[in-house]
Amino acid sequence: MLRMPEFRVHRARSAQEAVELWHGLGGAEGRGKDAVWSAMYLAGGTDLLPNIKHRLFTPKHLISLELPQPQIVDEGDFLRIDAGVKLQALADHPLIQATLPPLASAAGKVAGPQIRRMGTIGGNVLLDTRCLFYNQTESWRQALGYCLKKEGTWCHVVGGPKTCVAAQSSDCVPVLLALNARLRLTGPSGERELSLRELYRYNGFDHLTLTPGELLTAVRVPKPAPGFRGLYHKLRTRGSIDFPELSVAVTGAWEGDAPSSLEIVIGAINPQPKPVKGLDEWLGRPLTDEGIEAITTLVHKATRPQGSIIGDPDWRRAMAGVFTRRALLELRAASA
Ligand SMILES: Cc1cc2nc3c(=O)[nH]c(=O)nc-3n(C[C@H](O)[C@H](O)[C@H](O)COP(=O)(O)OP(=O)(O)OC[C@H]3O[C@@H](n4cnc5c(N)ncnc54)[C@H](O)[C@@H]3O)c2cc1C
Ligand code: SF4
Repeated sequence: MLRMPEFRVHRARSAQEAVELWHGLGGAEGRGKDAVWSAMYLAGGTDLLPNIKHRLFTPKHLISLELPQPQIVDEGDFLRIDAGVKLQALADHPLIQATLPPLASAAGKVAGPQIRRMGTIGGNVLLDTRCLFYNQTESWRQALGYCLKKEGTWCHVVGGPKTCVAAQSSDCVPVLLALNARLRLTGPSGERELSLRELYRYNGFDHLTLTPGELLTAVRVPKPAPGFRGLYHKLRTRGSIDFPELSVAVTGAWEGDAPSSLEIVIGAINPQPKPVKGLDEWLGRPLTDEGIEAITTLVHKATRPQGSIIGDPDWRRAMAGVFTRRALLELRAASA
């Protein structure tokens, strides 16, 4: 049995109280692989608590985010999803299902029902990166001499002392990136907004650009244009529980069989989800079968999965193309 280490839980009833507690309780020293956490935020705990059991983090204090009534609100040009909204509530929400169906679909594909009822959208966006050599017990990792992301000096995936390619493995993030979502953050000097596209970087042991102690309070998603459609495809071994081994989000606005905008984002390949560039060429004209094949090839070329999570990287790469083709055929058929 894996035992929890000791920590104290503090309840925060507002964003400001949470931030003040974090700083008052010693926050963190250093960042990334060198960070020593005195205090950490706890939302649903479905990522953080297993990681604490594995001694990947050993904070003395957890700040339980118990902000009143997280909501999904129509703000005119944006839909605001409070960070504390549970994933099952997101998947089931009529406004999300009607306005942002691929987001409802992605949220509904996270893990299994129990975890979706505990896990929040905030925790999903800020999920730690994952790796076969990292998400293991302390004794397992010790037997291997640890690894660069935690306590060691060597990456067992790339075989070197500098780069960590642990994978950003959230299901909602590729869709939110395709939708150009924004984040509302609270820190000691007040509130700010950040484009989700600026949140992640290609560094598995320090993949978030947030200032330490910043609290995510909401995700704001621009309302899509008329004719919007989107799909989320997820590759996993067991449909009932598993993290993605690869994922593809395809969104866009369509006029008949012609897309007027198109976004494709690949997830679960490395520390930074990948928006595919170069899609403008297919906008404003009917998307032919040849066009779909050309985009499939483009996505295949742009997808470079690392071996940090399960699934053969070549197979995962091939599936990025397969999912793209399937999604475009389905979206075109639904729009024509
Ligand atoms: C068996 C299993 C299967 C899983 N499968 C999937 C899957 O298929 N897809 C998937 O995407 N995820 C999966 N997860 C991971 C996790 O359940 C989800 O990503 C969930 O959304 C995490 O949210 P949480 O509220 O539980 O986050 P927590 O565990 O509470 O927090 C996660 C991290 O975010 C930080 N944090 C949380 N909220 C905030 C905030 N508002 N501001 C600042 N920092 C914050 C925490 O400090 C922590 O570092 C799985 C987990 C398990 C145990
Ligand atoms: S990618 Fe390398 S450094 Fe990063 S967690 Fe995995 S083994 Fe460790």
